[in-house]
Amino acid sequence: EEWKERGAAVGVRQELDRNGNHVQRFVKKGVKDFNFGRTLGEGSYSTVLAATDRQTLKEYAIKVLDKRHIIKERKVKYVNIEKNTLNRLGDHPGIVRLYYTFQDERSLYYVLDVASGGELLGVLKRMGTFDEECARYYGAQILDAVEYMHSRGVIHRDLKPENVLLDDQMHVKITDFGTAKILDPPRQPQDSINGNIPFANQNQGNAIDGSDDNRANSFVGTAEYVSPELLTDKNACKASDLWAFGCIIYQLLSGRPPFKAANEYQTFQKIVSLDYEFPKGFPPVAKDLVERLLVLDPAKRLTIEHIKNHQFFDGIVWGRGLWKQKAPRLK
Ligand code: ATP
Repeated sequence: EEWKERGAAVGVRQELDRNGNHVQRFVKKGVKDFNFGRTLGEGSYSTVLAATDRQTLKEYAIKVLDKRHIIKERKVKYVNIEKNTLNRLGDHPGIVRLYYTFQDERSLYYVLDVASGGELLGVLKRMGTFDEECARYYGAQILDAVEYMHSRGVIHRDLKPENVLLDDQMHVKITDFGTAKILDPPRQPQDSINGNIPFANQNQGNAIDGSDDNRANSFVGTAEYVSPELLTDKNACKASDLWAFGCIIYQLLSGRPPFKAANEYQTFQKIVSLDYEFPKGFPPVAKDLVERLLVLDPAKRLTIEHIKNHQFFDGIVWGRGLWKQKAPRLK
């Protein structure tokens, strides 16, 4: 009974008004308004399908979440966090945009930007490693998107090459905000898309900041990018995303994350003792950047502003132009 509905499936569309403020327009969109196509991927609680708006012919990715499964697995909170953060991050080219949400008896539907280039991890695996130019190109877009989310009071907390999707132009689209943290109170009175759904009453425990241990053992597979402060103080901050960013830059250039061991426990041991090495031939300027990001004390890590001015990003013109740039040939 968690998802009692009022009336028919109603979609909510995020738009910008004349002053650049985010507004929600209630548009009736439902399952019937889309043609569903092939499966783009499967998650633990969801299936992502290609879909086309019957009216506009615009293509989307629709994430279909099974309500019963989510309730049974006690994931209602994360499903809501994902929706609320995506709503807050309405308009940035580097973040997967949520256009509509609706539901039927069985499922929740999130209508998203389609990222037809797949995961950055997949591209990296095919290539083995990236050269400096490619690492700089993808790194710059990831950083620009992270800067935007931080400016909107969102810490991602699970940045990794699997969560960096690519569109048909090979531009970055960051996804997976289910474990994000929203820092300041909502700017809009109705931060939740379908305000009538009493999701929020659920007491499902907290995300991986450790204030509730419910989540603590569910970050399987992401251990490699966890920041030391999360392991020692059970607390993530904006700088935690920059630790992960350092891990990603290292991985793009060397083909593997800096901290990797046989199991999670050993990986954590390596992280808290800063036990990692650069492979031979790792570019010196990139090494300097990574060393200034993989710093145990989050207060001493480079800030985004400093990263942007680091020599590794020389030649990058920051700002919207980043998103009009042609992707370099993968090498
Ligand atoms: P889990 O829930 O197990 O952590 P996940 O977070 O990857 O998995 P989803 O977000 O449902 O789960 O994504 C499932 C798959 O669909 C992923 O492989 C992802 O690459 C793909 N996918 C997700 N969103 C999109 C999108 N907007 N466009 C294209 N593919 C997508």
